Amino acid sequence: MTTSTNVSMLKNFIGGQWVEATGSERLPVPNPATGELLAGVVLSSKDDVDNAVKTAKKAFKTWCKTSVPKRARILFRYQQLLVEHWDELARLITMENGKSYTEAYGEVQRGIECVEFAAGAPTLMMGTQLPDIATDMESGMYRYPVGVVGGITPFNFPMMVPCWMFPLAIACGNTFVMKPSERTPLCANRLAELLQEAGLPDGVLNIVHGAHDAVNGILEHPDIKAVSFVGSQPVAEYIYKIAAANGKRVQALAGAKNHTIVMPDADLDDAVKGIIGAAFGSAGERCMACSVVVTVGDVADEFITKLVDAANRITMGNGMDDDVFLGPVIRDSHKERTLSYIETGEKEGAILIRDGRKDQGVNGEGYFVGPTIFDGVKPGMKIWQDEIFAPVLSIVRVDTLDEAIDVANQSEFANGACMYTDSAKAIRQFREEIDAGMLGINVGVPAPMAFFPFSGWKKSFYGDLHANGRDGVEFYTRRKMLTGRY
Ligand code: NAD
Repeated sequence: MTTSTNVSMLKNFIGGQWVEATGSERLPVPNPATGELLAGVVLSSKDDVDNAVKTAKKAFKTWCKTSVPKRARILFRYQQLLVEHWDELARLITMENGKSYTEAYGEVQRGIECVEFAAGAPTLMMGTQLPDIATDMESGMYRYPVGVVGGITPFNFPMMVPCWMFPLAIACGNTFVMKPSERTPLCANRLAELLQEAGLPDGVLNIVHGAHDAVNGILEHPDIKAVSFVGSQPVAEYIYKIAAANGKRVQALAGAKNHTIVMPDADLDDAVKGIIGAAFGSAGERCMACSVVVTVGDVADEFITKLVDAANRITMGNGMDDDVFLGPVIRDSHKERTLSYIETGEKEGAILIRDGRKDQGVNGEGYFVGPTIFDGVKPGMKIWQDEIFAPVLSIVRVDTLDEAIDVANQSEFANGACMYTDSAKAIRQFREEIDAGMLGINVGVPAPMAFFPFSGWKKSFYGDLHANGRDGVEFYTRRKMLTGRY
């Protein structure tokens, strides 16, 4: 099959056509497991963004008037196509991102769930009325789209994160300009092709590949009314400030350092299973990865023995191969950054109890780091503080739940936090006192489903309305209040 995703230089998708970008800079897109070149991506200029926005603005005129059930029906067809192409999409994700096929398969599911939520547009778009606000007077709220929306996405979920954005945005009647990660740009093109096949009119979804220039083009463009961003903390803060200064709505989902508390009464086999998945799955490249475990009381030694034993049994390799659990990190530069954090941890006095640097990748190729575990980590160390975004796990030992919550709450990030316990009292204290937006009890990764908000706190989120769920509908719509006496 010939598609835009298997030609060597990727094109932008504007007005339903594959268009060459005018930017002069190009980047290779390698398979991180093998280093093999998959494609090249041209970094689009601000003119390319302007071209896409003009097209999206024109398409908005008719799309916003297209009946909501008709918009929803396109999403139902899209859902069907995504299901039919599930395996192909999962393979594409594994190829460009490196995560295992099983993880990629799960990511496709999470993407499809977003489309299913968005297909409920007729209900989601409803307003509210009060027929008698005074004698013979009524009042009602009506929902409308905001206009052209810009989306900027990270490398770690090439399908799920774009699906947090454009399906709901277009279901609400907006048109969309998406700039996918330049490190994983292939999946976005295939998502656009399938949406076109589902019957989406030209210009409603546009894809512009690129990096800083394209992002700045979105942030500064007067015809973009709202920006959805997911990525690292410094960039999220920048996006929030610049987009807001340019008068746009912004939701900017950022980095994380998620703590998991293991209580003395935890089922340790369950805890180890969940934590191995959360710390080392997707090579730790998840905003909901578990990057710090806080053990409470005398559970530490037994827990750590079991954890290291399980980490030693992890199969690392090309995510496309059967039984591989841990794939590569995204680029050689990210591997180097990770190795430098491991050195820093040692220099800071943390105890390296499992060294992933000694694990070999596939035939010496690809960007592999094995599961790495530090014991004796203290708050304030760089390996505790920074988001390493790799298979590196820190363990902090404390005596009480109060101390454990205090350690987690000292982090400047607050995306997720988990606890393993059987105690209702401890669960209640954790829920009430922990400073994070997405909590898990006896589960590894507490990522909410598409009909709930993805609700990070502190430096893990900039804005007011989160992605997904009702928050997403609020973000992608404007309200009109009508008060009348007839
Ligand atoms: P990143 O910030 O490097 O890139 C994200 C996007 O921003 C990309 O499209 C990139 O082209 C653009 N970008 C990067 N630097 C820029 C700059 N200086 N100016 C303008 N645009 C720029 O993030 P990443 O490495 O692709 O993704 C990993 C990060 O995303 C992690 O920090 C992770 O925690 C975070 N993330 C957060 C969530 C969440 O829900 N909170 C979800 C997924 C990923």
